[in-house]
Amino acid sequence: MPGSLVNILVGAVLLLGTISATAFAAPAPQSAPPIVELTLGTSTEGRPITALKIGGGARKFVLVGDTHGGPEANTFELVTQLAEYFRTHPAEVPDGLRLYIIPTLNPDGLALGTRFNARGVDLNRNMNTNIDSCAENDWRNDVQGAYGVESTTGGPFAESEPESRLIRDFLLDAAGVIFFHSNGGDVFPAFCEHAPSIALAQAYAAATGYTYDRYWQKYMITGGMHDWAGALGIAAITPELSSGDQPEFTQNLAGVQAILQQADALLPIPTDHQEHGFTIPALIWRFWQAHGGAARFGLPLAPAQSEAGITRQFFERAALEIHPDQADTPWLVQPAPLGRQWLGTPDPPAPEQPGARFFPETGHSVREAFLAEWEQHDGLLLLGFPLNEEENVRAADGIVRPLQVFERGVLAYYAEDNSVRLEPLGWAMLVRAQLQQSTATQQIR
Ligand SMILES: [Zn+2]
Repeated sequence: MPGSLVNILVGAVLLLGTISATAFAAPAPQSAPPIVELTLGTSTEGRPITALKIGGGARKFVLVGDTHGGPEANTFELVTQLAEYFRTHPAEVPDGLRLYIIPTLNPDGLALGTRFNARGVDLNRNMNTNIDSCAENDWRNDVQGAYGVESTTGGPFAESEPESRLIRDFLLDAAGVIFFHSNGGDVFPAFCEHAPSIALAQAYAAATGYTYDRYWQKYMITGGMHDWAGALGIAAITPELSSGDQPEFTQNLAGVQAILQQADALLPIPTDHQEHGFTIPALIWRFWQAHGGAARFGLPLAPAQSEAGITRQFFERAALEIHPDQADTPWLVQPAPLGRQWLGTPDPPAPEQPGARFFPETGHSVREAFLAEWEQHDGLLLLGFPLNEEENVRAADGIVRPLQVFERGVLAYYAEDNSVRLEPLGWAMLVRAQLQQSTATQQIR
């Protein structure tokens, strides 16, 4: 008790000291926003994908250059020049905003002189645009060009490529994004109705002189990044430079400056959503939506709760967590390790199985339908490593099914419709936690 009193007194004296020092000191020069170089990840061939970050405000605004590699290298030039400009003029980034400038999302395409990534996939046709309410722009493998269906460059499945997954994860907490392309000479917002994207495109057109188009006129873009982003509530636009070889720096600097000056109006902070009677925090909602929504994770079962800086919400098939210390990494939002908690001690490592993928991290194999699920839906992020071998066990619906426990969930195979689903571990662990915490007296029946 005396100790804490001493602490309070010392604290009060220090506080008074701080106040008086501030009160009598000459006004400090306004400090410039911090500038940080980030490596966000690597391309298919291992080239770094980098960003320059300026400022530390809550509103995240991202400029993305050169998704289309060599043929659109002038957008790489442009965004590199924008990065140099804002590096020397950081005070133009307003308080409350943080600006990220990514010169190229496709360093392999840039190095190899191709529109595609190193696996021949068009990254701007590879996003999971099935999450918006428009069917026309849904992801597909065969993509349209100026003369109808042109090529099978949409990728083997949505978000199959490391570069598309990287930008998807990085934009999870973004307020706005500009994807620079060339050379249509216009600017257009997300295809599906999204007022903030439309307003952003109109503001950008007004400041740059590029033509505003409600959507890309020449053909339907499927799996496009701007459409994916708009579906999550991110103000998202695609300016097309007029030429195929000039960076058009002055024009686009004016455009970016205009957006920065109107940031409060044009770049909406992510908002919470109501679902199934519960409030889903903005970033959990975006993650939930981006990775399959109710079909994958089920509905929310309880309000979100915060403990030790981590916000967690239980859904039927997962608990989704926000880890603020993981901002600007793919782990900002992640499923809690419910599989590990539920299983307790993992099974001892087993020998490698032929025809399966062996995970040396835990010494277990994953095969067939479970392996396809793991590889096609970000297994490391959504499931983690396997903790046992596949076994026939009674599933939550009372039927014996192939089941396998992963760090972040339990997969079951449903032969009747050849589907793989997450077992309702969120519900099970929520009930367990409630029973362990419960001190309520028995209800009188
Ligand atoms: Zn392009």
